Order: sequence, then C-alpha cells, then structure tokens
Amino acid sequence: MLYPLRFKPFLKFYPYGGHRFAEFLEIDVPRDRTIAETWEIADHGPEQSVVINGPLAGKTLRDLMVEFKQELVGDEVWERYGDYFPLLLKFLDCDKRLPAHMHPNDETARLLGLGDTGKSEAWYIVRADSGAAAYVGALSGLGGGDFQQAIENGDPYDGVMKKIPTRTGDTYFVPPGRLHGLDAGNLAFEIQQNSDAGFGWEWAGFVEAGIVSPQDARRHKSLAVEHALYEDGIQEQTREVVLQEDDDERAFCCACRYFVLERLKIRGNTDFHDKQARFNTFTVLSGAANFTGNGEVAFAKRGESLLIPAGVEVKIEPNSLAGAGEVELLRCYVPDLQRDVIDFLRASGASDVEIAWLGSYGSGNDLLPLLDLRQDLFDVTVAERHQAAVEHANSRDETS
Ligand SMILES: [Zn+2]
Repeated sequence: MLYPLRFKPFLKFYPYGGHRFAEFLEIDVPRDRTIAETWEIADHGPEQSVVINGPLAGKTLRDLMVEFKQELVGDEVWERYGDYFPLLLKFLDCDKRLPAHMHPNDETARLLGLGDTGKSEAWYIVRADSGAAAYVGALSGLGGGDFQQAIENGDPYDGVMKKIPTRTGDTYFVPPGRLHGLDAGNLAFEIQQNSDAGFGWEWAGFVEAGIVSPQDARRHKSLAVEHALYEDGIQEQTREVVLQEDDDERAFCCACRYFVLERLKIRGNTDFHDKQARFNTFTVLSGAANFTGNGEVAFAKRGESLLIPAGVEVKIEPNSLAGAGEVELLRCYVPDLQRDVIDFLRASGASDVEIAWLGSYGSGNDLLPLLDLRQDLFDVTVAERHQAAVEHANSRDETS
C-alpha cells in the first residue's frame, strides 16, 4: 500500500555551493562541506532518492518504479512515459555564479545520443540576497556569430545574456535553448525534466573539479551556439495566476507540457485529492504539516519534499511549530495543459493572456498555440528593446 513518501535527498557538491541549506532551510545536511544541490526527488541512474518513512523505508525511487509502476505514477503518466520517472526536483544553493549553459530539447538529446532526455526547467526563488541576480535569456539582437565571438573574447556571461535582479518568490521558466546561469546569492527550488543534459560554454570550475571533461567543455561551445534560442521577451519572469479557494491561496507559477508548478498557502486542515491518475509532489516552503494518507502520517517542514503516489488522498494538517497554523507548499505534477491549466483557469476567470504568461515568451511557450494566440505575443524586437530603454532613461531624467 502506497502513502505520502519522504526521501533522503541526494547531495551534489558542485563548485558553486555554500551553506544555505543548513542556514536558511534548516535541513539536516553536513555542515562541514559546501553543498550546491539537494536532489529532493530523483530517479536518475545512480542518483537516487531513498524513502525514509513508513514500511517502504530504505527503498530507492527506482525500486518503487519497478515494484509499483502505474500504481505509483498513475495511469495517465504511465501511458505517456512508461518506466521513466518524468520529473526531478532540486534545491540549489547558488553561493557563487553557476556555469553559463543551456539545455537541449528532447529531439536534439536523442539525435546526439546523450542517453538523457531534453531538459526544460523552472526556478522558484526561495530566497534572494540583496544584489542577487540571474543570467537568463540572450541579449537583445544576439546572433550566433556574436555568441561565438563573445566566447572567444572571454565574455561568456555579460557578453551574451541578460542579467536580471532576482526577488524572493519569482519564477523563471527556462525552455530548452534558453541561455542561463543563476548568479550568486540565490537559494532556488528547481523543477525540471528528469535529465542532466546540458551544454556549457563556461563551466565555472566544473572542468577543474573533474565533473566535466575538457573534451566535452570544448565540444559544448559549438553545440550551444548551434542550439541556442536567439529570442528576446518582455520579461524573463513568469506572471503568477493567483486563485483564492476558501481560506487557502493557490497560485499557478509556471506551466509547460512537462510540468506545472503551483504554490499553495494552506491555512487550516485540508483534504488533498487529485482526481487525475497521476502522482504529485509537495515541497514545504514555510511552516510544517502532517500529511496523512492510507494510514501513514508523514511530517514535513520547511525545505522537505513529499511524493504523493497517484490516487492517494491526503489530509494536510498545518502544524503550529513554525508556521502558526499555516503551511506554504510548492506543488508539481505532469499536466494535460488544455484540461488542467487552460480550461481550469478560464473557468476560474483568468484571461487567455494571463494564462499564456505561465509559459514565458518565445518558441518555448507551450500554451500560446493551444490558446490560439500569436507565438510572438511576448517577444520584443531589438528596436522595441531600444525604445523601452530610451523611455526608461527619459522617465529617470524627469524624476531626478
Ligand atoms: Zn540549467
């Protein structure tokens, strides 16, 4: 019998990590080493989450996939993905700047024989220090020749990408091909396709640490130039669609064909039951709660994640230990975009443009075609970007 599952995270000691997991999330990780990533729910080759609660304690997520199959992920997810767990959840401690990189899409990953799927990802900024930023999106008007030149000139960040100040609570959707690398000072949650495929043109200490081979680091530069998205949008952050459900708040933060990211604020005892045949994940952002399903109680607090197997009804009881009776969660699931996002949000009163914002700008927005909106709705041209900069400068003149 399946129940709400908690896992021991898989730790990554990449060069950019720090001590934020222990200091701000207060999760139980070694304090004598810097940690870059906690893979909260992962079934990626040898990188495995291990169950720590209830009768299934000690089993890896792979063990559960083999034993429970569609009972774990749900018929809808199993029909689409079979024996491939489609999501990977992480926290990132960006104490230093991340590598400058991008990810391939599914087709490129397959054609190149990478042994991994493509990767779409989204970041929810859990905590941004003052001055923290994200490198994301190509500079306005950047082309392949400029990109190549900037790499050769040793200007792999500011020479190719926009640098955007991050704020706690912002969500960034990063489709395959979008240039990115979080800058120092961010604690982020990341939801992504279950893949580790990426092309870095500046690996920022990864080669020296033996994580990426010098050959790959060289090869990645031309792959990045070839597969980059050369497009620019009105803004890099998504715009949330916030719904009030009785006392609780439900915010859609981001949506693409692979995942939906929601933020839930739950202020009293709540029954959670996903009518669709699929698993869900919860990650506690603040407060704590007991999650009871199929007779098992799982307690989770800030920084801890749960996998809710398909069909398991969960009673969520916010615990007053840290959150005064309120718990704030990130929820992730594999969507049917039309049914779960478009039809649902339209029925809740959201406009089509508000819904489309969940998918960011450009060709990676999976919602625009389904909404019958122009694919370039949120794109901007070099001329428009220039005009906006002039207007911004003029308005500053007037106010100063
Ligand atoms: Zn990435």
